[in-house]
Amino acid sequence: MFRTAFLDLPPLATAGGTVHLPGSKSISNRVLLLAALSQGTTTIHDLLDSDDTRVMLAGLQQLGCRIQPAAVTPGQPIAVTGIGGQLPAGTAATLFLGNAGTAMRPLTAALAVLGGNFEMTGVPRMHERPIGDLVDALRQLGCSIDYLGNPGFPPLQIGQPDFSQLSTQAIPVRGDVSSQFLTALLMALPLLATDRDITIEVVGELISKPYIHITLALLARFGIAVKNEDWQRFVIPAGSRYQSPGDIHVEADASSASYFIALGAIAANTAGHNGVKILGVGQDSIQGDIRFVEATRSMGAQVDSGPNWLQVSRGAWPLKAIDLDCNHIPDAAMTLAVMALYAEGTTRLTNIASWRVKETDRIAAMATELRKLGATVEEGADYICITPPAAAAAWKAGSIHTYDDHRVAMCFSLAAFNPAGLPVRIEDPQCVAKTFPDYFEALFSVCDTANARIPVICIDGTSGSGKGTIAAQVAEALGYHLLDSGALYRITGLVATRAGLALEAANAERIATLMAEQRLEFTADQRVLVNGEDVSLAIRSETAGMHASQVSAFPAVRAALVDMQHAFRALPGLVADGRDMGTEIFPDAPLKVYLTASVQCRAERRYKQLISKGLSANMDALFADLEARDARDTQRAAAPLKPAEDAMRLDNSCGTIDEAVQQVLNWWAQRQPFAQGATTPGASQ
Ligand code: C5P
Repeated sequence: MFRTAFLDLPPLATAGGTVHLPGSKSISNRVLLLAALSQGTTTIHDLLDSDDTRVMLAGLQQLGCRIQPAAVTPGQPIAVTGIGGQLPAGTAATLFLGNAGTAMRPLTAALAVLGGNFEMTGVPRMHERPIGDLVDALRQLGCSIDYLGNPGFPPLQIGQPDFSQLSTQAIPVRGDVSSQFLTALLMALPLLATDRDITIEVVGELISKPYIHITLALLARFGIAVKNEDWQRFVIPAGSRYQSPGDIHVEADASSASYFIALGAIAANTAGHNGVKILGVGQDSIQGDIRFVEATRSMGAQVDSGPNWLQVSRGAWPLKAIDLDCNHIPDAAMTLAVMALYAEGTTRLTNIASWRVKETDRIAAMATELRKLGATVEEGADYICITPPAAAAAWKAGSIHTYDDHRVAMCFSLAAFNPAGLPVRIEDPQCVAKTFPDYFEALFSVCDTANARIPVICIDGTSGSGKGTIAAQVAEALGYHLLDSGALYRITGLVATRAGLALEAANAERIATLMAEQRLEFTADQRVLVNGEDVSLAIRSETAGMHASQVSAFPAVRAALVDMQHAFRALPGLVADGRDMGTEIFPDAPLKVYLTASVQCRAERRYKQLISKGLSANMDALFADLEARDARDTQRAAAPLKPAEDAMRLDNSCGTIDEAVQQVLNWWAQRQPFAQGATTPGASQ
């Protein structure tokens, strides 16, 4: 997840490959409960791993369901063996359900019907979330439920029900507070429908019908065919019995899929791929937002689909403008508004009044941000009309404000395909965490652009000039990858000495070959692994530095490391530190910084660094070493250390690291096309 103040997306060109979307939360918890109530073992694929699903899994385990493995493991299905519609007599448990409404409501209903001795609790906030309407409906049936705190709210005590007075009359439940009450009853009452029809009647307007649709579709997968009488009465037929479907895939969130469907429609195809394949949701999805596919088809997208996948590529280009009533796909329709930037003519999206009362006033937000990019936008109380910039030259580089609205952030990332080749800035990118924490990582994994368009900031300089720390902080502020090229030379020295090779020119080819055979890993937490062994500490010693300096003078070694270094240039950008980043490895980098500092000052810094790591150090020796390394690095024939002609010089003898980082970020900001006043990372706030 990107936790930066903003994320700059370089201009993107093509898309291709496969994205595996995370499972939907509401489907995950429904499937878990249905599997738990069923006869047999259900193998659940793609279950979402989240706080809410974890408390549900723990609760089901307490009730005696066998769950294997016990926790969600990425890429692995989870097998739930159900209780077959009844609990052993006298089952007792205290279930802690966190703040998961999708666990509290349905489990309360199911356990109240099954009977036993259960205490249902959660975090303090859960004890403020209403459950009275559901409890009333269950009590009318003969369930025993008491409030342990405030009436109408959890915690609850559930006992043994008495169904002797159960009539054939419809069970009323309010539909206008939370559709979760109806969902809870729909999932619990089949347990009572063994010998009679059970009818539930909705009192008041039923809200969130798409969620009830999901409940009904999942019940059908578990053998319960509920009759839906116009969303007012639901009849569970006599003889209903939960039956495991065997295998079930948890669908991905269809609204999250919309960004990748749009991506396939907008982007040219990356060579060797057949568009964007989306795993986790298919044409037969039970979620309302899947109808977004139809809208993109009418704009020109080429969409193929199967039971759990979609494959999308460009069809008509430019896209065709549409005039669409979006009442049925309110969330996904925001993605259409950005697709409209690539259409010929004016796209009109109507019946979207609900946008005004979402995370933010989405009509106003979309209009403001689309205009920043050069579009002409007309907005009304319940519609928006978008006309794209008249020509490539009319596009503008926009810094997109995201209003703490995950969907604004995700849909505007698609503006990076603009024909003007302009970057797009997404402010506060971590707002995507609400539904899709790794959205941008997923996007980058299927997008491509010319290498020259992926920005590189080079920070070259002498040993101990502070460039490593500065580079790491600049990379962190911008969300860019980091290349510590010195580490590659240090590893080379280590590998060569371990192999017993003298570090002399006669062995250069052998050292280069040996290095090419090593399996290197640079982990997110800045550790360096060689063939699985953590060498982070071993390569940091002064001796390792001297060895690095020796091997780095050999042209064969330098040549062997070039491709490795180029491979670090990846979306969304790179900060590279070393000696020849700006002169040899990334000569086209848009920002090159050359750091200097006096030998005295560098020796002092290195001394403190080594001591703080618990390594031994001696000032005089450090001073002499640094001078020797400077001399070797600057005087060697192969890629000697020198500032690139277009490098910005930064003397870091006196200033603090923070000041140097800020200076680099300021230089970088000046090179960006975004309007002044946009957020600067690291600026004190
Ligand atoms: O930056 P660091 O101190 O880790 O680098 C170790 C040695 O590797 C340097 O003294 C230098 O000789 C060599 N090096 C290089 N080219 C780079 C990075 C490091 O020659 N790009």
